[in-house]
Amino acid sequence: MSGIYIHIPFCKQACHYCDFHFRTNLKLKEQMVQAIVQELKLQKNYLPEKTVRTIYFGGGTPSILQSREIGNILEAVYKDYEVAAAPEITLEANPDDLSKTKLNELSTMGINRLSIGIQSFEERFLKLLNRAHGPREALQAVENARSAGFDNLNLDLIYAIPHKDHSLWQKDLDLMMKLRPEHLSAYSLTIEENTALGRWTKKGRFSPADDHFSAEQFEQLMETLSEHGYQQYEISNFCLPEKHSRHNTAYWKDKPYLGIGPGAHSYNGKSRQYNILNNPKYIRTLENGNIPFELETLDEEERLNEYLLTSLRTMWGINLNYLQSEFQDDLLKRKNSYLSKISTEGFIELSNQAITLTKNGRLLADKIACDLFL
Ligand code: SF4
Repeated sequence: MSGIYIHIPFCKQACHYCDFHFRTNLKLKEQMVQAIVQELKLQKNYLPEKTVRTIYFGGGTPSILQSREIGNILEAVYKDYEVAAAPEITLEANPDDLSKTKLNELSTMGINRLSIGIQSFEERFLKLLNRAHGPREALQAVENARSAGFDNLNLDLIYAIPHKDHSLWQKDLDLMMKLRPEHLSAYSLTIEENTALGRWTKKGRFSPADDHFSAEQFEQLMETLSEHGYQQYEISNFCLPEKHSRHNTAYWKDKPYLGIGPGAHSYNGKSRQYNILNNPKYIRTLENGNIPFELETLDEEERLNEYLLTSLRTMWGINLNYLQSEFQDDLLKRKNSYLSKISTEGFIELSNQAITLTKNGRLLADKIACDLFL
């Protein structure tokens, strides 16, 4: 199975925590859409497995595009790629873009999954994060999406926001459970250097929450979602049965994908391509008929370690047969005493087929994966 990721590098305003690639100046939006269409054309032979089963508009803020522009990009995908009969087509959206008219247009053109950036239901924290929407708009967007027929929604939340204590976090979780999205992604607020929060932290004007505070809210998250019948199929991702993101799951299972747009990357099983992050240069290079990317050939060790890192975070865990057949790695033998130790301590579950994390292990996912690296 193959997936296509399309990066839309524009946002209405810069959220204070975000270091993704985006610009708030929309002057190049039309040209960007044309360049994306052009890149789709030029990359039509990239994917080793030809059938495309998932298409994902990410960003930035894809919902900032007009429906006509999203339609042009989708048309380009259908023109040059073999798209499966029932593809998963996701669009990341901000609540303030989701009017009833827009949602009906998106649904008509085949978008069947929305990922809405809610982040918090409280005005003061949305302001701290510099989100462009308020709590009422978030609720309205979900209601509008349901009336437009969307039955596969992901909603995003952020936890470990300083001064947002555990009872306020619980309030967000309870409200979220009333909305009952099919999928929920929740991320701990991390402070990146090149963001407003990063600069304030450096100057001592902002104090991030500590690891203990964050871990407690993560446990609250896991408990609440489990009580309501959600599966934690990846550390930060929860879903109702069968509603996992097919697109993201393919990344975690080492499947190839094609990334289109500035800053997007692609993976064909052997190498990774990174598109340049500069919007004007991206557009200019494509206008001249070339794709502006850098190539990184991955050696077996890098591929193996990446697989360990991503698969361990999922509920399917590290597939030992896959490790053996793809990398000739006998992990049970290579890390025998370490695995027995952390299994006895209750951090992993061990079988002949897979290694999965227990609830306690999920708090240490990345450390455990690094300890298993080649
Ligand atoms: S809308 Fe999303 S991509 Fe844009 S700045 Fe905010 S968090 Fe970042």
